[in-house]
Amino acid sequence: MGSSTGLGSLTGTAVSPGAGYGPAHVLAGEIPEPDKESRHGGDAAAERARAERAVEEVAADLEARGARAGGEAQEVLGAQALMARDPSLAAEVGALIDRGVAAPRAVFDAFGKYRDLLAAAGGYLAERVTDLDDIRDRTIAVLTGLPMPGVPASAAEPFVLVARDLAPADTALLSKDVVAAFVTEQGGPTSHTAILARAMGVPAVVGCAGATAIAPGTPVLVDGGSGEVLLAPGPDRVAAARRAVEARRAALSAADGPGATADGHAVPLLANIGGPRDLPGALEHGAEGVGLYRTEFLFLDRASAPSAKEQEEAYRAVFEAFPGGRVVVRTLDSGADKPLAFLPPPEEEPNPALGERGLRMFRRYPEIMAAQLGALAAAAAGASAKVQVMAPMVATAEEAEWFAEACRTAGLDSAGIMIEVPSAALRAADLIRAVDFFSIGTNDLTQYALAADRQVSAVAGLQDPWHPAVLDLIAMAASAASEAGKGCGVCGEAAADPVLACVLVGMGVTSLSMGAPALPWVRAALARHTLGECRSAAVAARFAVSAGDAKAAARAVLPGLEDLGL
Ligand code: PEP
Ligand code: MG
Repeated sequence: MGSSTGLGSLTGTAVSPGAGYGPAHVLAGEIPEPDKESRHGGDAAAERARAERAVEEVAADLEARGARAGGEAQEVLGAQALMARDPSLAAEVGALIDRGVAAPRAVFDAFGKYRDLLAAAGGYLAERVTDLDDIRDRTIAVLTGLPMPGVPASAAEPFVLVARDLAPADTALLSKDVVAAFVTEQGGPTSHTAILARAMGVPAVVGCAGATAIAPGTPVLVDGGSGEVLLAPGPDRVAAARRAVEARRAALSAADGPGATADGHAVPLLANIGGPRDLPGALEHGAEGVGLYRTEFLFLDRASAPSAKEQEEAYRAVFEAFPGGRVVVRTLDSGADKPLAFLPPPEEEPNPALGERGLRMFRRYPEIMAAQLGALAAAAAGASAKVQVMAPMVATAEEAEWFAEACRTAGLDSAGIMIEVPSAALRAADLIRAVDFFSIGTNDLTQYALAADRQVSAVAGLQDPWHPAVLDLIAMAASAASEAGKGCGVCGEAAADPVLACVLVGMGVTSLSMGAPALPWVRAALARHTLGECRSAAVAARFAVSAGDAKAAARAVLPGLEDLGL
């Protein structure tokens, strides 16, 4: 531990490049229940005033956050603030304090009573229980000096968000202006924290043991390239990290235009998006279209199926952003790491990743598939973008045929499938006959090839798309598509790794789709290598025995990586 590393360092898996520096905001765990027997000192009026101030502070904070976020978030947070100021709740808290109960316990009990009433009412009211719990926890945090639960949507300076793990809902309101970096204790390179961080262009380290023990407010320097997390680093380290980032940025901005190797072999570079809100980033980074529109991200917080009109609008907004370009839409991939409340599996599954998810859900709920395909066809009707639709989690040729037929019935003329199950890659020649294109989902393909759940950080080391077993499966799918004269893209996170992107192109992959901030890196890496060099890198990688060796072997034959600092 030297002066340049201050309080020491932690290490995790680097999943989103760049350096981020700021005070740690440690996402609090659950607020503990205040002691049942806790009593105040005897001055009930003062204790009441203290409770009222705490509730008001929470309500005002919710309102202020809503005002900053605007839109739907403002409505939700405004409704929560109203709930906090409910006079009958205040009366209940006051009555308990008058009986000697300390304010934190009085808040807990009073909110508990209303919580039970709401839960018993069922339906919409029962869904408000979580909001009420959130207000209760925030008020108790103010009263007891505990860190505030939840992620702040704004801050005086960008902070490093430290958490055990992050759910998509935790991060809905976050932006790059607020978060300097992410550090999580759990998760691997394909966890949604990692995907989100890359989509936002924010440096991130996941699977970082001990992260939540960082004292809140500690200045933290996160290196999203090496996985190092420095606690209270000296100014020399912070300045060096910033200089390295600047140097790379300059090298990157030199590459623009459509994706191609140094000798002019075109490789369209497309963006992965979760909805219209990701469009500005995709356009800013020069995406030539969309290679993966994760439509389930539009509806993660929905208890009921979205209407046809609502879907159509969200699809049309994306089609219109790429006139004449390609937009590949994935049908709802519900289940496992992306559960949708309106598409529940019929029973508790012991292994959700192996259960009813993706296309399997559509076989259970065909009316939801028909509605989505109908909305897509309606939105595509007037659009000049080339709309392609694909299904996730396809395992057999029969499933591929079933999906392609449903697309044709809906009036969609380009139907494809994701290759993310090993059986589909192994028998790619059978599956390609039924569809127009493949798109390889390397996140799930790696998970299933190595039998390593992408949500379990203990096996994150196995979750590496560089593993030659995964490379072999990718090569099989790419060559089956090429023999059939059809396209085979990659839209998993492997496409966002500039070195691996060269290897994928060398294996015959025809387009690459990634979180927008990775586009300049991949564009620059391809522009520095010929197709022949990419092919040599692919051969070298597939000859290796381990993921680490595959990466080293590919790098050794890709001379242009160095000036990108890769
Ligand atoms: C994949 O599995 O590689 C993929 C692109 O889909 P998702 O990460 O959304 O499961
Ligand atoms: Mg997938």
